[in-house]
Amino acid sequence: MSDLARYNLFINGEEAAPAGGEWIDSFNPYTGDPWARIPRGNETDVARAVEAADAAYRAPEWGGLKPSTRGNLLYKLADALAQEADRLAEIEVRDNGKLIAEMSAQCHYIPQFYRYFGGLADKVEGAVIPSDKPGMFTYTKHEPLGVVAGIIPWNSPLFLLTWKLAAALAAGNTFVVKPSEHASASTIEFAKVMAEAGLPPGVLNVVTGYGPEVGEPLAGHPKVAKVAFTGGEMGGKAVYTKAASELKPATLELGGKSPNIVFDDADMDGAVKGAISGIFAATGQTCIAGSRLLVQESIHDEFVERLVDFAKTAQMGDPMSFDTQVGPVTTQAQYQKILNYIQIAKEEGADCVLGGGPAERPECGSGWFVEPTIFDNVTNDMRIAQEEVFGPVLSVITFTDEDDAIRIANDTIYGLASGVWTQNVKRAITVSDRLESGMVWVNTYRAVSYMSPFGGYKRSGHGRENGQDAIYEFLQTKTVWMSTAEEVPNPFVLR
Ligand code: NAD
Repeated sequence: MSDLARYNLFINGEEAAPAGGEWIDSFNPYTGDPWARIPRGNETDVARAVEAADAAYRAPEWGGLKPSTRGNLLYKLADALAQEADRLAEIEVRDNGKLIAEMSAQCHYIPQFYRYFGGLADKVEGAVIPSDKPGMFTYTKHEPLGVVAGIIPWNSPLFLLTWKLAAALAAGNTFVVKPSEHASASTIEFAKVMAEAGLPPGVLNVVTGYGPEVGEPLAGHPKVAKVAFTGGEMGGKAVYTKAASELKPATLELGGKSPNIVFDDADMDGAVKGAISGIFAATGQTCIAGSRLLVQESIHDEFVERLVDFAKTAQMGDPMSFDTQVGPVTTQAQYQKILNYIQIAKEEGADCVLGGGPAERPECGSGWFVEPTIFDNVTNDMRIAQEEVFGPVLSVITFTDEDDAIRIANDTIYGLASGVWTQNVKRAITVSDRLESGMVWVNTYRAVSYMSPFGGYKRSGHGRENGQDAIYEFLQTKTVWMSTAEEVPNPFVLR
């Protein structure tokens, strides 16, 4: 018998064993050893979870609540999550190996999302239409969709769940989440906190397991009204196809190959830190990684020298230590993938000026660590410049002027985020206008908030999370026409 922590599914307000009676090992990336077992759910579990969510949606305890009462419940959830933030952050670090400094900041920030959307719950107003039809009173209202399915990646499990869940619940929906098979534990613990905070059973259900076994039946379930997905292109396509087979809408938050552009008038110290934050924060395992560093030719040599000097100082080691700056990679498969890309970049002729292999430092133990790696003299047609690595590997590309920078920046299938480093306000605005990406950061990088829409252009996805408009991703509009006319007009023509 294994002495690993063993988790259960969470369905209809209580823990449930998986129908297939199987569990999957969840690994600690810092040690490379399993630390917990999570249920291997299947289609039967999905069906139970969706039925529970559908029943909760229709029940007076949730479906019958006034929006203000729903909002109050989200405030209570926020308070409960604030109490549990440290514990949840530690679980995430054990599961995905990201830094405690980052996961703790995320877990302490998460309650704000529930407060923001809780506050929005009773501010969604319909309209009275100034009808052009005589004798007609017409109004609109926004109604929830029903059961929403969330499918989440491993890199920021609770943060990315929250980006969907807070808006979906504020709108009055219920939810079934499938977390990543690599980092599920925090989501199960989250569901328990939510139940203890007084959210009715069935409002949030968790089914863990593999994409094809849980994600696909969930996305295709006839009683799921909408799918909200964050992850990679392959999973995104599979989920989108399943949703399409039932003609249901889906929002997709996918990958990126974001350009971080440094002009020759930039504040160099700030831009060096911005470049570091773009690629080495979260060990590069972030969709918004600034993995293409575009540097103006005239400052290239000095900038790269400063960048390498700074990157060399990054402390690697135990992600549970607040001093660590670069942690392990989340999975062994991902570790191999990053090393393969490093090899590809070398074969393509890029110059490796830092790192370029596994980290074999004593402080890295037996974990899956890759050295912070910088490739210089990359051209934008190389695979290392076009494909998402999802690791601490930076490609430096030079450009001559603004037009050249824009051309290179936009020459990608992705369009999630961009960085612009300049002290020229006019340039900051015009360059931001010309970049094909959902977010542009000027003289900063990796800033996100519950108030600010987040999402991609092009193949980085569609739909937006966060910000006031995000609630409309989980609502549908009803138009009510009421006749006040004395007589029924000619029934054979359109009113
Ligand atoms: P992934 O696509 O492998 O997995 C994401 C989720 O989809 C997991 O829960 C997984 O089990 C599920 N899944 C995978 N295949 C599936 C299938 N066939 N059917 C149904 N579900 C399936 O992604 P990942 O490796 O966990 O995360 C990394 C990816 O996520 C990167 O590409 C990254 O850019 C992207 N990401 C995007 C954002 C964003 O907001 N745009 C944020 C974080 C991560």
